[in-house]
Amino acid sequence: MTKSPATLSLILAATFGAALPALAEGELNLYSSRHYDTDEKLYSDFTNATGITINRIEGKADELITRIHAEGANSPADVLITVDTSRLERAKDAGILQAAQSAVLEDKIPANLQDSDNQWFGFSQRARIIFFDKETVKNPPKTYADLADPAYKGMVCIRSSTNTYNQTLLASIIENNGAEAATKWAQGVVDNMARAPQGGDTDQLRGIVSGECGIAVANTYYFARAMAKDVDGLSADIAKVGWVFPDQDGTGAHVNLSGGGIAAHAPNKENAVKFLEYLASESAQKYFAAGNNEFPVVASVETTSAVQSLGEFKADDVSLSAVAKKLPMALETFNKVGWE
Ligand code: FE
Repeated sequence: MTKSPATLSLILAATFGAALPALAEGELNLYSSRHYDTDEKLYSDFTNATGITINRIEGKADELITRIHAEGANSPADVLITVDTSRLERAKDAGILQAAQSAVLEDKIPANLQDSDNQWFGFSQRARIIFFDKETVKNPPKTYADLADPAYKGMVCIRSSTNTYNQTLLASIIENNGAEAATKWAQGVVDNMARAPQGGDTDQLRGIVSGECGIAVANTYYFARAMAKDVDGLSADIAKVGWVFPDQDGTGAHVNLSGGGIAAHAPNKENAVKFLEYLASESAQKYFAAGNNEFPVVASVETTSAVQSLGEFKADDVSLSAVAKKLPMALETFNKVGWE
């Protein structure tokens, strides 16, 4: 089998420690925490259209941020792709991103789904919504506020406060309703917990199937994935699980992002801009969103059938850049109310 240049670069990088080409015409060094089947096509289409080879460094989001920071001005990183507004903002705060001035990005990506300084852009969205046991919960919560209603005491499963999705959710409640209301809400949710926070979003959904949780909070793609594939302890009984897009008569369901930005010292900045613009194109949007059963940020683009079966909903259009500014306060609030 012949190795593609991209694979070869990775092998070289692995063998020689750091041997990614820095400035090289027709190359793009992509640091990404994504790894989905559809990504191969996403990248090869870009290379076919532009002649630009993508050298990929894949790793956990926080490790990539630390790595780019440690590499400093010599970092070969051109683009960072990761998930969750909180991580994108952390990358910005660490000084490892730079602004991308692009009329294409401004035109395609809604203003509330990008950084106010253009250092990061959302390329797909996931909603953080309410799931419930259809047999035992006849009046499921309709809003995030309802999750704190004493009527649901002992029923709510939600993961820990170290989870970035919960941090961004609480930051959005602070931005929308103020610090005091958000603290009351967080306290109310803690009081309603069915168990101490444990596991990931899929485990919250499994808790409904096992009967431990009447209500669970999870990102939409975990549920869509369980509809599309066989997820242990969930898919076989998924018909038991109902879902509610919260706050449909109010601010709308909280959405978060997969996204990215241009590295502060990108040696191939022009290629980096081209790549981000490509990610906002219709064809790339389809792959980018489908890879993880997410919603595209470009409204006209089609979603996977599992995502379609979730139905249409109203998303909160609060600026995620403004929400990100409330993240430190969200962490304090979690501590204050003892949300583990
Ligand atoms: Fe996730």
